Amino acid sequence: MRLYSIASGSSGNSIYVGSDKTHILVDAGVSGKRIEQGLKDLELSPKDLDAILITHEHIDHIGGLGVISRRYGIPIYTTRGTIEGILKTKSIGNIDTSLLNEICYDTSYIIGDVRIDTIKISHDAAMPVAYRFEVGKKRAAVMTDLGTYDDYTVSNLQNLDAVFIEANHDVRMLEMGSYPYLLKQRILGAKGHLSNESSGKLLTSILHDNMKNIVLSHLSHENNLPDLAYEAVKSEITLGDTKYKGEDFEISVARRDIPSNLIAI
Ligand SMILES: [Zn+2]
Ligand SMILES: [Zn+2]
Repeated sequence: MRLYSIASGSSGNSIYVGSDKTHILVDAGVSGKRIEQGLKDLELSPKDLDAILITHEHIDHIGGLGVISRRYGIPIYTTRGTIEGILKTKSIGNIDTSLLNEICYDTSYIIGDVRIDTIKISHDAAMPVAYRFEVGKKRAAVMTDLGTYDDYTVSNLQNLDAVFIEANHDVRMLEMGSYPYLLKQRILGAKGHLSNESSGKLLTSILHDNMKNIVLSHLSHENNLPDLAYEAVKSEITLGDTKYKGEDFEISVARRDIPSNLIAI
């Protein structure tokens, strides 16, 4: 399995997940051009895509969906609530409704040789989901845009080889920053985004000896810095109630503006 972040952050998200035979995009929140360029890095074209999975209808996840789906006619999979949200988002233009496929929470789907599981997440969107992927014995997940997590989340993220996990903000930067009060409350709330510390805490409950790659994702431009996210998560792991130290794992930070983090497991 290969995973590749074309873009990740509060200004646009699109992550490639695939096997030798099957090619999937999680979210299409950047321009069609950037998606084409990102896939080209992998010697792929959007024509090769078997599916676009959408996590939720916020514009940083669907901004390029109209263009890419009209140009290439790629099937789109997402929840009923997200489908409604997509169809209401006029700025992305018309979507051919025959390309839209409804999926449900806590269900497994097979596309080509990839098994996909849907995981419900806590976020201020209609019916947001995260995805877990399995190819042969390899497992990975893309878990971003969640304000909080619980035992259900943790149990769905066990035994992964790789994880893209949100580390959205540094709480102090957010609190001191220029965002309006209500927006700050939204981001900090249970339906907002995971802070660096929460991200590190969630990680400590899913770490195991064979976790190979951790990619900190969906960083805020205003309220975080890559080095800060990296150090905060590493120290949460070291201080956490496990046998592990932050240095025991390959941790990287997905870039907001350029592709990064090609992972092969
Ligand atoms: Zn969102
Ligand atoms: Zn987002």
